[in-house]
Amino acid sequence: MFPHQSMSAGPGWQRELAAAFTSTDELLRYLELDPGQADDWAGAARSFPVRVPRGFAARMRKGDPRDPLLLQVLPQGQEVDARIQSGYSLDPVGDGESESLPGLLRKYSGRALLMAGPTCAIHCRYCFRRHYPYAESSLFSRHWDAAMEILRRDDSLREIILSGGDPLTLSDTRLGDLIGALEPIAHVRRLRLHSRLPVVLPSRVTPELVRLLARSRWRTIMVIHANHPRELDAEVASALTTLRQAGIALLNQAVLLHGVNDQPEVLESLSERLFECGVLPYYLHQLDRVWGAAHFAVSEERALALHHRLSARLPGYLVPRLVREIPGAPAKIPLGSIAPTDWNRPETDG
Ligand SMILES: *Cc1c(COP(=O)(O)O)cnc(C)c1O
Ligand code: SF4
Repeated sequence: MFPHQSMSAGPGWQRELAAAFTSTDELLRYLELDPGQADDWAGAARSFPVRVPRGFAARMRKGDPRDPLLLQVLPQGQEVDARIQSGYSLDPVGDGESESLPGLLRKYSGRALLMAGPTCAIHCRYCFRRHYPYAESSLFSRHWDAAMEILRRDDSLREIILSGGDPLTLSDTRLGDLIGALEPIAHVRRLRLHSRLPVVLPSRVTPELVRLLARSRWRTIMVIHANHPRELDAEVASALTTLRQAGIALLNQAVLLHGVNDQPEVLESLSERLFECGVLPYYLHQLDRVWGAAHFAVSEERALALHHRLSARLPGYLVPRLVREIPGAPAKIPLGSIAPTDWNRPETDG
């Protein structure tokens, strides 16, 4: 069991996190947009509250209601319009079914996913976890010992993935305790963190954090999440460089989002900018069909066309894998391919 730590008198990033915009009205005024002119967002904001770090909002263009960074976080009336949400559900990737314990997901072979982060620094409107009951899924409250037991016993495990919420919303002390507790599990070789914080709150990349990841016996991989090249400003680039210099492998996942990055030029410059920051593009996700996110959908046909354009223009290492998630499947499925019906069938010659 880990000690709970107060968030109050912490380092700068915690104060920045606490100062994030949590009011649509305030965010729009800051961007010199008239809240009265905006879409009817109140119902949407009630169903999934607004949260935007000020540093992220500072990268948005003032006066532009279609700004691609703003669209990712702005509640819109369409989110609660049932007419466009048909085929969209509360748990589109079937996480509920793959939980061994609340907060421990065993869905991928050789990998275990711990929902280590209690919260996110930003609320992305398209998130497949927008309806996820984080509060009830804290591994640390009641299930820690049972989770450790499962991880220790399963010697097929090679990798532990800390996800969330966002694992970097934990303090350095708690994250260090968590890694310290997991590290003695001899069969695990790699640690992976999925975090949007280096992008949306780069001050989170403190020297303490870098030291704590660098001194681990594990090879550490960090999968960041940026959808548009303008998310990666100079401060983010500098945080990412620090991580890379500490020997952490950096990958990016993005979600293909209508109005945000569904243009070949945008995806191309995202890949180029990521590489400048020391990050390789990893996944480009087709939107998970979560209730409230239908207005971000890009058709499969268009997604494939965009991906072909990207493949024609960039070296292979700058082309992310275009994938979708299918409930119950033990891996992401490349778009345009057909998911096997029996994943465990051995290979045969014909
Ligand atoms: C797909 C996915 C994984 C597993 O990713 P791989 O890179 O395919 O091993 C882990 N966590 C989340 C949230 C995912 O969506
Ligand atoms: S889990 Fe990731 S995509 Fe979802 S709200 Fe948090 S930061 Fe955004």
